[in-house]
Amino acid sequence: MSYSQVLLATKKVNIAYNSLLPFNFENDKDFVSQFTIASPVSFSGIGLHTGKLVHVKLVPAPIGTGIVFCRTDANHIKIPAHYKNVVDTSLSTVIASSAYPDIKIGTIEHLMSALAGHQINNIIIECNGPEIPVLDGSSAKFSSLLSQVGRHVLYAIKPALKIMKTIRVHYKDAYAELSPSPKKILSLSLSIDFPASIIGKQKFDMDLTSKNFEKEIAFCRTFTFKEEIDNLHKMGLAKGGSLQNAIVVDNNTILNPEGLYCSNEFVKHKMLDAIGDLSLIGYPIYGKFSGYKSGHKLNNQLLHALMKDDDAWSFHALNYQNIGKQNKQSAIIQLNQYPQKQEA
Ligand SMILES: [Zn+2]
Repeated sequence: MSYSQVLLATKKVNIAYNSLLPFNFENDKDFVSQFTIASPVSFSGIGLHTGKLVHVKLVPAPIGTGIVFCRTDANHIKIPAHYKNVVDTSLSTVIASSAYPDIKIGTIEHLMSALAGHQINNIIIECNGPEIPVLDGSSAKFSSLLSQVGRHVLYAIKPALKIMKTIRVHYKDAYAELSPSPKKILSLSLSIDFPASIIGKQKFDMDLTSKNFEKEIAFCRTFTFKEEIDNLHKMGLAKGGSLQNAIVVDNNTILNPEGLYCSNEFVKHKMLDAIGDLSLIGYPIYGKFSGYKSGHKLNNQLLHALMKDDDAWSFHALNYQNIGKQNKQSAIIQLNQYPQKQEA
């Protein structure tokens, strides 16, 4: 389907869907809309681990698509951004669909975070290689591109996933937790504690809104330690790694000539990662995330633990408050597939 066809189909679906809604969609602030981007946008950059140039095109998508990666260099195989598709978290978040486990896409977390920050929940991400470019190690470029192209509202409800009871996963003294919150938003509280005194103990709290994401989080770069880079290079990994795409800490010195962009850039980057990791649930979360030394692996385990426990979550959406627990799965199918049926 060409982009103009997608736009036309989206418009038709919008009108059909909107006419069925019993309320004024645009004026109601009690639920989350579905959004895509207003027009396609492309960028290129080096993959952190392969060191090769990768081209990426973000393409608008209709209601119910979700966030889907498409490997244009591998038969256009599609890989939905979903926590169950995470196959590796050791160096970055890597996903693959169960149908094609060998066709992977890695380093998705900073782009996923920017999409969550901008509340884009329907998009196709075409990519001609196995990883998303690392760029400067933050979400700044993704966030500014998304701001430039703008959002396109799709007239359909995106139900939020409301946390109903506390779920915690841990590894040694590190933990990641989701707990109920009265706010209709995701609140985050994250702490880190590193032996290197230049990082040390840092804590940051924030409610996830587009404004907070752009102002506080998007520009914060990933960080690494010089000895880790040396080890990865020996193993033939992180070929694209340089001072241009990460803060590099050597003992208690920052090797990057420009230094830090803010004194708590380290903990804020960990929050950037958590926002991207949690967005793989596929729904906006209403609840509180608390993390201590948590990373991609614990964040992913948290989503598995949450969804396994039927009492720990429920859908929050106008007119969908009566969804019984036994109907949770059918509710997902209805909400995601109904508009597509209209389009066919
Ligand atoms: Zn990161």
